[in-house]
Amino acid sequence: MNAFAVLFLCALLLGLATRLALIRRQIRHVRAHRDAVPAAFAATIPLASHQRAADYTAARAPLAAGEAIAGALFVLTLTFGGGLQAVHAVWGEVLPAGSVAHGVALLATLGVLGWALDLPFVLARTFGVEKKFGFNRITPRLFIADTVREAALAAAIGLPLLAVLLWSIGLAGERWWLWAWALWLGINVLVMLIWPTFIAPLFNTFTPLADAALKARVEALLTRCGFRSSGLFVMDGSRRSAHGNAYFTGLGAAKRIVFFDTLLDKLDADEIEAVLAHELGHFHHRHLLRRLAVLAPASLAVLAILGWLAAQPGFFSALGMQAQDGASALALFFLILPAFTFPLAPLLSHWSRTHEFQADAYAARQSSATALASALVKLYRDNAATLTPDPLYSRFFDSHPPAAVRIGRLLTPHTR
Ligand SMILES: [Zn+2]
Repeated sequence: MNAFAVLFLCALLLGLATRLALIRRQIRHVRAHRDAVPAAFAATIPLASHQRAADYTAARAPLAAGEAIAGALFVLTLTFGGGLQAVHAVWGEVLPAGSVAHGVALLATLGVLGWALDLPFVLARTFGVEKKFGFNRITPRLFIADTVREAALAAAIGLPLLAVLLWSIGLAGERWWLWAWALWLGINVLVMLIWPTFIAPLFNTFTPLADAALKARVEALLTRCGFRSSGLFVMDGSRRSAHGNAYFTGLGAAKRIVFFDTLLDKLDADEIEAVLAHELGHFHHRHLLRRLAVLAPASLAVLAILGWLAAQPGFFSALGMQAQDGASALALFFLILPAFTFPLAPLLSHWSRTHEFQADAYAARQSSATALASALVKLYRDNAATLTPDPLYSRFFDSHPPAAVRIGRLLTPHTR
């Protein structure tokens, strides 16, 4: 085993141990605070809701832990266990090894294996925990239909793209990682463009917002904020889950505002306006573009490192591969990458929480801080989101600030 293999193994095991320790802390902290609603919420959240949130958080934690352990075992089996080499050899019986078709088959098989590994966890979450807490609305029939649609979509879009990627990698020679990056960026932008009009309608029904009074309010908010959109829509999120949300989708002129029907049911007009103003805040501060502006060069650097690594003698054999081709390099790389990016999780979470504070402040200026605060309280209550997360766990993983901090800032303007 060479130095690189040792480095990878250490990163993987340390990451797994950290994740499990944090999950354990989270369960303990939530359980320890189960019997008292935090003072700031004593008037708005009943004890029963608070306890339900604690139980929901604790019930989901073992699944997250199991998924982390299964994921690590999967990566170890495919690399050091020789699994990837075995898949490579099996396809080598039918397709010329190193060809584009062989590479596509190898990567697609990896995708299917990863999906199969996840399936028991997805089933346990959807039909176990989510159902137990009254969130799941998806029927087994719709679940199967969704799975078939997702697989068909992945095959129709993913397989040709993989073929183009492997083919251009073959042509590009040493600079193949540059091609891979350009293609990755192109796909990202393409998906953002076609998602709202072509892909999302395959899974949900979008109807124009019918409530005239609410529509007028939302349009007044948009004018006040200097935004234009190509439509306000209501999505039938209740077909799958009772969790509510509102979001913006699309780029440029194709921008749409989408409300989950479950959100409209829960919030009054003031609160809906405030939630939408928060989403507009993300747009106003260009959070999506900023993320892309950081992720694009970062992924270029990451792919350049892969280009360099794959050219080092011993890279393939250190990870259990005898075969050395473009598809194997990509497969190995994407298997080992998460172990090395895991330590960045707290940084990315911190960055995301800063964006949430900015969007909240924007909503407070353009709409109403008290309406947003009361919307958040309702959403925390109805989504059974814990009000008392473990501080360390929250720092590491939470993309949104803890409820008490967020609402505290909204209601004490000088801290905004
Ligand atoms: Zn937000």
